[in-house]
Amino acid sequence: AGGPDVCALQHPDVAALLPVPGAESDKYRRGVVGVAAGSERYPGAAVLAVAGALRGGAGAVRFVGPPAGAVLARHPETLIGRGRVQAWVAGSGLGDAPEARERLAHALKAEVPVVVDADGLRLLDEALPAGGRTAPLVLTPHAGEAAALLGSERATVEASRLAAVRELVRRTGATVLLKGSTTLVAGPTGPVYVNPTGTGWLATAGSGDVLAGLIGSLLAAGLAPRDAAAAGAYLHGLAARRLTPPFTASEVAEALPAAWRLLR
Ligand code: AMP
Ligand code: MG
Repeated sequence: AGGPDVCALQHPDVAALLPVPGAESDKYRRGVVGVAAGSERYPGAAVLAVAGALRGGAGAVRFVGPPAGAVLARHPETLIGRGRVQAWVAGSGLGDAPEARERLAHALKAEVPVVVDADGLRLLDEALPAGGRTAPLVLTPHAGEAAALLGSERATVEASRLAAVRELVRRTGATVLLKGSTTLVAGPTGPVYVNPTGTGWLATAGSGDVLAGLIGSLLAAGLAPRDAAAAGAYLHGLAARRLTPPFTASEVAEALPAAWRLLR
């Protein structure tokens, strides 16, 4: 009560949120993040979401889906197949085949935080369990996806991004990260965070998939939903700023350790 309505994310605040493994840590305590992304048609989305998740501070990444071969070829660290996870990332490049819907529904049934991105946002209503969920939900739409969720127009969202993110939170009860030139993060309580680290060069194929994986990993490591979303957006932008443009989404994931280092 009485705090600011809107607040810019700052270096020390984000630094204080990042997980630091201790003597008692093992990979399970550091968190396992499940990734249900990609499809035969969009294997790259799976590879990139896993890339972001591997550099997000969780102890392990578990992948579920058909492009498992592509994921393993790029990221041999990945666990394959269903099992216990502390958070899910679902939706990037999922397509809309029955199998994809089933993977999304499986993630949403779990009593752990779930990040829903891209195709998952379109399928969200039908995939949510009857009676809703109690565990946290984080939605990561860009303006077009936000407009579709709101039954509005992209231009309307772009013209009033703050109102749009608040309305999405009101309607869904989720934590919402509205991507774009200034990414906004809002949850059911607390101020709207504004991320200052973005760069237009991040508007490149797959960069949103890396962000979704990163946020899921931070959730699995134990961050609260709004903190995971905010720290994810901040690190994603910092990583991009370490790179020489034009860079690729894979390179953004690879630059995440350097972004972490800046915050230490
Ligand atoms: P997506 O729309 O899912 O491909 O994700 C694109 C990523 O690039 C998100 O992290 C956006 O916030 C970021 N992005 C897109 N356009 C801009 C921009 N003009 N300035 C800064 N970041 C941007
Ligand atoms: Mg996207």
